[in-house]
Amino acid sequence: MWKDKALRILKEYYGYDSFKKGQEEAIEDIMKGEDTLVIMPTGGGKSLIYQIPAMLLEGLTVVISPLISLMKDQIDALKETGIEAVYINSSLSDKEIKENLNKLHSGDCKLLYVAPERLEGQDFAMELATLDISFMAIDEAHCVSKWGHDFRPSYRRLKSFINMLEKKPKLLACTATATPEVREDIIELLGLNSPKEHFTGFNRENLTFKVYRGENKDSFLKEYLKNNKGNSGIIFTATRREAEHVYNLFKSDFSIGLYHAGLKEELRKSMQEDFMFDNINVIAATNAFGMGIDKSNVRFVIHYNMPRNLESYYQEAGRGGRDGEPSECILLYNAGDVQTQRYLIENTTLSPEKKEREYANLRAMIDYCYTSKCLRSYILNYFGEEYVHDNCGNCSVCNEDTEERDITLEAQMIFSTIYKARERYGLTTIVDILRGSKNERIRKFSLDKLSTYGLMEGYKKDYTAELINKLIAEGYILVTTGEYPVLRLTGKAAEALKERLPISINIRKAPVEKNEDNKLLDILKILRKTIAEELRLPPYIIFPDSTLKELSKELPLTKEEFLEVKGIGENKYEKYGERFKEAIKEYLEKNNLLHLKEENRMLSKGYQNSDPLSSKDEPLKPKVKTHIATYDLYKSGMAIKEIAAERELTPLTIENHLFQCASEGMDIDLDGFIPEGREKDILEAISQVGASKLKPIKEVLPADISYTAIKAVIMKNNL
Ligand code: ADP
Ligand code: MG
Repeated sequence: MWKDKALRILKEYYGYDSFKKGQEEAIEDIMKGEDTLVIMPTGGGKSLIYQIPAMLLEGLTVVISPLISLMKDQIDALKETGIEAVYINSSLSDKEIKENLNKLHSGDCKLLYVAPERLEGQDFAMELATLDISFMAIDEAHCVSKWGHDFRPSYRRLKSFINMLEKKPKLLACTATATPEVREDIIELLGLNSPKEHFTGFNRENLTFKVYRGENKDSFLKEYLKNNKGNSGIIFTATRREAEHVYNLFKSDFSIGLYHAGLKEELRKSMQEDFMFDNINVIAATNAFGMGIDKSNVRFVIHYNMPRNLESYYQEAGRGGRDGEPSECILLYNAGDVQTQRYLIENTTLSPEKKEREYANLRAMIDYCYTSKCLRSYILNYFGEEYVHDNCGNCSVCNEDTEERDITLEAQMIFSTIYKARERYGLTTIVDILRGSKNERIRKFSLDKLSTYGLMEGYKKDYTAELINKLIAEGYILVTTGEYPVLRLTGKAAEALKERLPISINIRKAPVEKNEDNKLLDILKILRKTIAEELRLPPYIIFPDSTLKELSKELPLTKEEFLEVKGIGENKYEKYGERFKEAIKEYLEKNNLLHLKEENRMLSKGYQNSDPLSSKDEPLKPKVKTHIATYDLYKSGMAIKEIAAERELTPLTIENHLFQCASEGMDIDLDGFIPEGREKDILEAISQVGASKLKPIKEVLPADISYTAIKAVIMKNNL
């Protein structure tokens, strides 16, 4: 019963066809009146788990949220979907608070977001208690625990507020942190009553994990930013100084901002806002750039330094891809990062025992950078989760992004030079000696007298430097800190020399990937930005990247088609449908693609009844040619994707060409469009709702069955 209603809300307001993993089960428990604990990774879709019951339940839903920016983000997003919600926090005036309270009293609004500190005020708490609160959701519930990373004392006083209420509301606690200590604290300190627990696992399938050791970090970034222009991303550094370094290095060539705790509050705020609003694409930041970042279209998170433990790493990397679209999490490792982290731990006031734990966690972080196992499984195992696949196919290890290269000989020459120069020189000088440079410094210190002078004459300067960096990253060479850092050999190098051990390094194979070229997507992004500016909202609140991508592929031109796109509900269609429709149409016209689109539409609606060839319409003529052209390529053995690329059409168009061919009796392997073993399901769906329209068929089937598969079954069985 509640489920039908919930699905309707999901479709009508949010524009989604189905629940994400765990959502439905959690909502079910809430609707049954249970206390509930939801542990899901970032981007798992926790907000819906309280927003939907808020609309289904009688009475008021109160959401506790730790940051003003998070609240604002959610309220803005809700407004866009057409759902009324208000918040009460210190950013509002007394008058505004009064107005919001009135809305709650009158029942005009059933969803309130509030900061935990507010409930400490006796007057305010009493006032709230007069409302009929039936459900309370505590978001980021790990804030209640000292073991978590964002402890907030005011979370501890929520329990007494709840106990003060005449009727105890049902409780929901949400978090992405699942260590046993945090979990126990949440249940105990928030007073959850034998809660039903939902843990969906931590895997974030859309994130690609990559580790590169000993890269020249600045050149890596430069290449990466160049290849990812227009994409939103975060570059995390370990120190403020490095954040500034990255910012200064790229500010004239790229759209980049800066964020760290040393900046004036005002500047920090405007940087964050510029990032949220896509005024700048990239931000160089320390980990002060924290929890308030709910921006959903972050396409990459690069760690310029290794963080101090995997908890922080996963948390920060997890800011990528909240919208579920592919995103990259790249860690640039250098052995110097280990020194930095050790130094930071050493200089804390932690007890020896806690320090020990920090060191152990650091050790695990370093191992992550060196593991030859799947990175995803490494992370998940660390968090106590079993990941059964050996190969995730989506990390730098599984994708074999790097290769081992034997450099024993070169390493020996380098070690020997450092040793003979008495470990007194920095990287540049060591490279100069090896290359036989005749510069003044070399002569002044008689470094040209060393027996290794000029040994690597034939090597390029950059390559020699890169080798040294790799050896630093691998822990053979140590760079001292201080004003004039010099190179020293570590025990590992001494042992390698003595035992004549082979030395190899990890070299990155593939160049960083290029953006795919999608002109319409760019146009739609600009339109989104324009609208966002008019409304003073972050662009991702208007539509997530995934929706724009789907728009640029599906090219909807009618309301019905728009509503089929993920992330477009009634309200958003009413608000923005026209403008996006215009943009798509204009694009199609300009590129002479409109007739193709018309053809697609005809095909997908009623191809089974009409024969396109017999149509009297003149504009149909070029179509005959175009689908035959596709057929020729198909017969030559090309895959649909290849044909699409070759003909500069969408795969969907190509598929439709092939269906047309099939309907004309040409030889098309329709089974190729039907996922193995699913034909039966589709036929059964058709027997339920008939074959005259595709949409009702799609609706009764699981979401992974595509329109294409349905069309293929209809066609194959002559329905
Ligand atoms: P969390 O709080 O768990 O980090 P959010 O609630 O912010 O995650 O949701 C992350 C993203 O997933 C949002 O862009 C949201 O719109 C989207 N989302 C939520 N539920 C669904 C769903 N059922 N289908 C598709 N997308 C969804
Ligand atoms: Mg959330």
